[in-house]
Amino acid sequence: MALLPIITAPDPRLKKKSQPVATVDAELRQLMDDMLETMYAAPGIGLAAPQVGVLKRVIVLDIDREEVKTGRLFMANPEIIEASDEDVSYEEGCLSVPEHYSEVVRPANVTVRYLDRDGKQQDMKCEGLLATCVQHEIDHLDGILFIDHISALKRNMILRKLLKVRKEKERDEAEGKPDRAKDKDKDKDKESAPAI
Ligand SMILES: [Zn+2]
Repeated sequence: MALLPIITAPDPRLKKKSQPVATVDAELRQLMDDMLETMYAAPGIGLAAPQVGVLKRVIVLDIDREEVKTGRLFMANPEIIEASDEDVSYEEGCLSVPEHYSEVVRPANVTVRYLDRDGKQQDMKCEGLLATCVQHEIDHLDGILFIDHISALKRNMILRKLLKVRKEKERDEAEGKPDRAKDKDKDKDKESAPAI
């Protein structure tokens, strides 16, 4: 297994539509395994292939919370085949939009159809955080980020800040300074919303 570099916004690859996979073969399983390892290391509870620069319709998830424990989930070609009329608002974060969180309104319950790691078709009813997470990840496959669900004003503010952080990091690297993000991680609030 290997850790893959996670792409952060703004990046044109995060805005592209990913292609369906033809079959779940050994090569795709390798990608799934690498994505899962990358997600654990981040750490995050969900990851979509375009977040590691691969434009294939593949997502991985593992939610381990008091209210929901999913175990590891691998989904190829996931699609929402049913969604509740009832909506819910959840504070979302994203590994590709680091350090920013925002309330996003989505259907509270969904049923997702996908091919599992063995290539078998599955239908799964999702509620709570799992429903939010699955919809967030499928959005990635369509080139949509959670910040596309919030006001343009707030979205542009976040994108500007991300660009600023990137420029600072590039300058620090050029000057051989230590990584500022690592210092920040130390006192990061552990209770903040999960990155997906
Ligand atoms: Zn995300």
